[in-house]
Amino acid sequence: MKTIFISVILFFFTTITAQEIQFYGEAKQGGIIIGVGKNITSVQLNGVNIQIDKSGAFVFGFDRNSKGISKLKVRFKNKKIETFEYTLEPREYEEQRLTIAKKYVSPPKRESKRIKRENQLMKAARAKVGKLKNALYMSGFVYPVDSVDIRSVFGSQRILNGKRANIHNGLDFSAEVGDSIRAISDGIVRIAGDNFYYNGNFILLDHGQGLTSVYLHMSKIIAKENQKIKKGEVIGLAGSTGRATGPHLHLGVQWYKKRIDPMSLFNLVLPSKE
Ligand SMILES: [Zn+2]
Repeated sequence: MKTIFISVILFFFTTITAQEIQFYGEAKQGGIIIGVGKNITSVQLNGVNIQIDKSGAFVFGFDRNSKGISKLKVRFKNKKIETFEYTLEPREYEEQRLTIAKKYVSPPKRESKRIKRENQLMKAARAKVGKLKNALYMSGFVYPVDSVDIRSVFGSQRILNGKRANIHNGLDFSAEVGDSIRAISDGIVRIAGDNFYYNGNFILLDHGQGLTSVYLHMSKIIAKENQKIKKGEVIGLAGSTGRATGPHLHLGVQWYKKRIDPMSLFNLVLPSKE
C-alpha cells in the first residue's frame, strides 16, 4: 500500500515540474535544443554546467558526429531535479565531388603566414563566444537570403579534385553577387573578416550562450565589429571571395565547437516575445 502511495506522489510531482520547461528542437546529429523554464537554478549537460539567462532560456547542440546518450539535468529553486536523456542515431551524410583551384587544396607557401595570422584572428574572435549570457537567439530564426535555394547541405563528405577532403560544415545558399545577406537571429558581431584566404569577407555573429553563425564569401561587409544586429538585418552582400567555386553564401552554425546543421534552426517555432 505504501509503495503505491509513493509512486502516485512521484508521478504527480514529475508532471508538474515537466510542465515548467518547454523544449524546442530535435535531438539528432547537428541538431539543437532550446529550453525555456521557470525557477531553474542550474542546467547540466553530461555533467557540465551550461548557461541560463534571466528569462530561463538555455541552449545546447549536438555535433555532426555526436554519438550515444546525452543527459540533461535541470535543478529547480525548490531543490527538485529533473533529468532528460537523448539518444542520438547516426545520420547519413552525402558525398560531394568538387573540382576547385589547386591553390585552395594545398595553399602556396607564400600564403602560409597570412593563413596563420587569419587563424589567430578567428581564434581570438571565437574566444569571446560564451561570455554573452543573454539568449539573443530567443528572437527566433530567419533565412539569411531572400530567395532560398539550398545548393549544398550540411555535413557532406567532400571529395576535392578526387581526394577525400574536409567535411562541409555548413549550408550553402545560391546567391548572386550583391544579394542581401541577413542575420539569422539577433546577435553581436565578433569579427568582420576582411578578405581571408579561405573565408573571404565574412561575419561571425554571437547569439549568446555559445551559439554562433558565420557568413562567408561576401562581396561586401556591411556590419561592424561589436555591432548589435537584429534578426533579418542586412550584414553584407553575397559574393565569391575566398575559397568559393562561384557566388553563394556559406552559412555555418556552431554551439561552442559543435558543428550544428543550420537547417535545424529554421523550423523552430519559439514563443514570441512580448
Ligand atoms: Zn559551404
